[in-house]
Amino acid sequence: MNVFSDTAFDGHEQVVFASDTASGLKTIIAVHNTNLGPSLGGCRMWPYASEQEAIHDALRLSRGMTYKSALANLPLGGGKSVIIGDPRSQKTPELLRAMGRAVEQVGGRYIVAEDVGTSPADMEQIASQTKHVGGISDGKDPARTGDPSPFTAYGVFIGLKEAARFKNGHDDLTDMRVAVQGLGHVGYHLCQMLYDAGTKLVVADLNQDSVTKAVDAFGATAVSVENILSVDADILAPCALGGVINDRTLEKLRVGIIAGAANNQLEHARHGDMLREAGILYTPDYVINAGGVVEVHYCREGKPVSETNKHIEGIGATVREIFDRAKQQDQSTSFVADRLAEERFGLRQHAA
Ligand code: NAD
Repeated sequence: MNVFSDTAFDGHEQVVFASDTASGLKTIIAVHNTNLGPSLGGCRMWPYASEQEAIHDALRLSRGMTYKSALANLPLGGGKSVIIGDPRSQKTPELLRAMGRAVEQVGGRYIVAEDVGTSPADMEQIASQTKHVGGISDGKDPARTGDPSPFTAYGVFIGLKEAARFKNGHDDLTDMRVAVQGLGHVGYHLCQMLYDAGTKLVVADLNQDSVTKAVDAFGATAVSVENILSVDADILAPCALGGVINDRTLEKLRVGIIAGAANNQLEHARHGDMLREAGILYTPDYVINAGGVVEVHYCREGKPVSETNKHIEGIGATVREIFDRAKQQDQSTSFVADRLAEERFGLRQHAA
């Protein structure tokens, strides 16, 4: 079992292995970097095929959170936790409370929130054991249910408009064609915003009910999941899975801009360069999907939703800075985003 030599280790400050025999909890809490503040990141529960796979996922996701929070201008570092197990059959209140105790033992260097396999209700259980938790309804504002997805969608919408402005010289989305892959929590909210802005939507999802809903509500054109990436459109918004931009899909793309919520859209870093060479403006995923983490932070700080939204609107300026630098330096936007994040979270490391 490798930790220090795992390809995603990348100087992690701390990796905690915790277990609870009574509830069956087996968790790995990864704290990548706390230069800008305590690490914050979701807790993923997944039936990993091996412990090595779980370690690798925790390290990879935790590192990603450092970059995301730095570019979102949050006083937070990057961390993530994984629970090894099937959330459908193995998630119990006892296990979640044991997870809360494990988080408490990290002493505030890691703040947990929901992710794949965990929910706002699960965070309530965890919160019975630790105050280092986010993604819970504040019980006051109906816009604040603990679900970060509407805020994530808002950030994607802001970033997408900035990309349109950079490419076309204006951000009027009226009659633009936007292909949305995935109509889940984020994708559906994004469709609502795009529809309100006057775009023509082309959509696909594995779930036919979601497609029918979007066709009825937004007059969207439905295409198959096989064809959504080859739709002739102004913008592609990947809101389903990671790795969607790869050697097989790149040559099919018929869009000028990519701007969507899915994490890790580029299968490999080189695909960022290939998009640039193809003249497709890529809006780095972790920059525009940071609205959710902004909301988790503001909710924990007891600040109103209006302040969350104001902060999320700042994603536009960051996207613009990345596009401008990429043009000046003749580099891909994904490369420039990573270097900008490292400048930000690395500063205090050098000062210390
Ligand atoms: P979700 O599970 O609610 O929705 C994903 C949707 O994609 C589902 O409806 C699913 O049926 C569909 N889908 C899966 N494979 C597909 C395919 N091949 N073609 C078309 N549709 C497909 O997830 P979500 O919360 O909406 O998140 C979407 C993406 O955004 C994920 O990659 C997630 O990691 C990322 N993200 C989400 C948030 C958030 O706040 N929820 C924050 C940051 C990043």
